[in-house]
Amino acid sequence: MSDAFLAHLTATLEEIEADGLLKHEREIEGAQGGHIDVGGRDMLNLCANNYLGLADDPRLVDAATRAMQENGFGMASVRFICGTQDLHRQLERRLAGWFGHDDAILFAACFDANGGLFEPLLGPDDAIVSDALNHASIIDGIRLCKARRFRYANSDMEDLEAKLVEAREGGARHVMIATDGVFSMDGYLAKLGEIRALADRYDAMLMVDDCHATGFMGPSGRGTPAHCGVSADILTGTLGKALGGAVGGYVSGPQPVIDVLRQRARPYLFSNALPPAITAAGLAAIDIVEAGDDLRERLFENTRHWREGLTGHGFDLLPGEHPIVPVMTGDAKLAQKMAEGLDAAGVYVSAFFYPVVPKGKARIRTQMNAALTRDDLDAGLDAFARVGHDVGLIGG
Ligand SMILES: *Cc1c(COP(=O)(O)O)cnc(C)c1O
Repeated sequence: MSDAFLAHLTATLEEIEADGLLKHEREIEGAQGGHIDVGGRDMLNLCANNYLGLADDPRLVDAATRAMQENGFGMASVRFICGTQDLHRQLERRLAGWFGHDDAILFAACFDANGGLFEPLLGPDDAIVSDALNHASIIDGIRLCKARRFRYANSDMEDLEAKLVEAREGGARHVMIATDGVFSMDGYLAKLGEIRALADRYDAMLMVDDCHATGFMGPSGRGTPAHCGVSADILTGTLGKALGGAVGGYVSGPQPVIDVLRQRARPYLFSNALPPAITAAGLAAIDIVEAGDDLRERLFENTRHWREGLTGHGFDLLPGEHPIVPVMTGDAKLAQKMAEGLDAAGVYVSAFFYPVVPKGKARIRTQMNAALTRDDLDAGLDAFARVGHDVGLIGG
């Protein structure tokens, strides 16, 4: 490799660092959970997508262990050659049944599900109308597709309607609206009631990526469409968040959609089948999620307690009901100082600032989960209050 090329990469890294955007990975020893061991320190973890606390749940570990013993470790094949086990089809049928769709198809990750979804379904005569704050994987998936692209301002229904009108006036054959169910920087829900009505008015399909909702939002944890009392024509999601937190993604929808994806979706056709441990644990996660509301109740009780406590201490939160609770600092430096202070106090959080969120809207994004106890939350609130005073974020 040429020295010039490596020097070019080194310069890029220096630029990233100079912009204050260099990401550092802290190493966790042991399992993901409400408490994690970081370099020998026990820390309260407030930034995982482990909403239902299932990431270290013994029932999932058992299901995965048993599946490995009975079905082996790996598939060593794509699905259509010799990589489809009964477990894959069980999980696909189970997901589709849960969401009220005909069928579902598994991918290695939701990034792949979104990356492979659009290109086989829509062509140059069609149009995709996409929320400006959609996840990177939707943006990339749309880029790979030849359909005309329209982008509307985040959750701006007037702008969505204007773009639908433009797509229709441009003679689009099929139109698809694509949105996240939950926008993860803010914890805001997509306005799916209004979006569904606009979709129906302009004869458009509705695609929802529900990664930050499946398992805990809506009745039986069926997600934001169920929460809003509407249906999504196509739903994508992940096994990597509330449903156990490992890996795996899926698309759920009408039979012809799933059948075409099985023939044409490139990340599905040209990438390995999910291993038995993952599919079996996915089924066990859905068993737990469908069996009762106890974990969801604990999650939302924790969310209420956390929000009330922070508000009581004088912190500025974004409003909402989702377990993503952003604590606003405005200033990026203040967010970094706050995160450093919390780290020293044994609280594991992440600061977000420009360009991940708009300038002047820096924040500590906290996330609640069902594995956190009341004592955990109260210890976390004490730490936030102390550090918030120290850095001058809250008065008194
Ligand atoms: C996390 C996330 C993804 C990616 O899911 P993976 O299964 O980890 O690839 C896609 N979309 C949204 C909205 C997400 O939050």
